[in-house]
Amino acid sequence: MNTQVQKQQLLYKGKAKSVYETDNADYLILHFRDDTSAFNGERVEQLARKGQVNNKFNAYIMQKLAEAGIETHFEQQLSDDEVLVKRLEMIPVECVVRNYSAGSLVRRLGLEEGMKLNPPTYELFYKDDALGDPMVNESQSVSLGWATAEQLAQMKDLTLRINDVLTELFDRGDMLLVDFKLEFGVFKDRIVLGDEFSPDGCRIWDKETKKKLDKDRFRQSLGDVIEAYEEVAKRLGINLD
Ligand code: 5GP
Repeated sequence: MNTQVQKQQLLYKGKAKSVYETDNADYLILHFRDDTSAFNGERVEQLARKGQVNNKFNAYIMQKLAEAGIETHFEQQLSDDEVLVKRLEMIPVECVVRNYSAGSLVRRLGLEEGMKLNPPTYELFYKDDALGDPMVNESQSVSLGWATAEQLAQMKDLTLRINDVLTELFDRGDMLLVDFKLEFGVFKDRIVLGDEFSPDGCRIWDKETKKKLDKDRFRQSLGDVIEAYEEVAKRLGINLD
């Protein structure tokens, strides 16, 4: 893919990213904004540098996944806050894997936070803001036409492989990858990882102190949100300049 793609009209404005069409029907440009939202968009704030930090963070992770043989939509970082990606037909199901208990699992089952989950849990959520992204299962996803059973099996396999790759990566920076959410889509009949991987969509704790280094700092008003994202990036060796 060459860099000569021209940005065209806004296709979709999400909570943290804007998606632009290009003059090539197979590619889109994602713009990472500083907008930070929680509680299904109820609380939105601008956090300086977030767009750039997440764009560079995502580029690094997507390249690491590609090196591990996982196909992603990432093509090329275009600027501090823009990336060129393949245009996927998105599957409206979010894939969540958890290595430790936290977040909605803790609330749903009345668990203590921080229990090791062995093997990791795997959950699906239907991507629908109006419904608050409800938890769904594979049977519902197939019956409602969101994905085929084969696609869902591939998504699960890929998510668990990604968990293995990233757990090791974060471990090397003395961090625990607690949980994360992925979104997949179809590109030329193949299941490909889409959306982004950044501290907005995962939980990362310091291995020793269990200090939260992810978007929970925003959700729980702990402060120093972007400083924590930058610390994670530094520990992974990501250049944010
Ligand atoms: P939980 O189900 O505990 O709220 O979320 C599990 C993991 O998936 C967390 O790392 C959380 O950040 C991520 N996640 C779940 N839903 C969303 C979402 O709609 N947007 C983002 N950015 N992350 C999500």
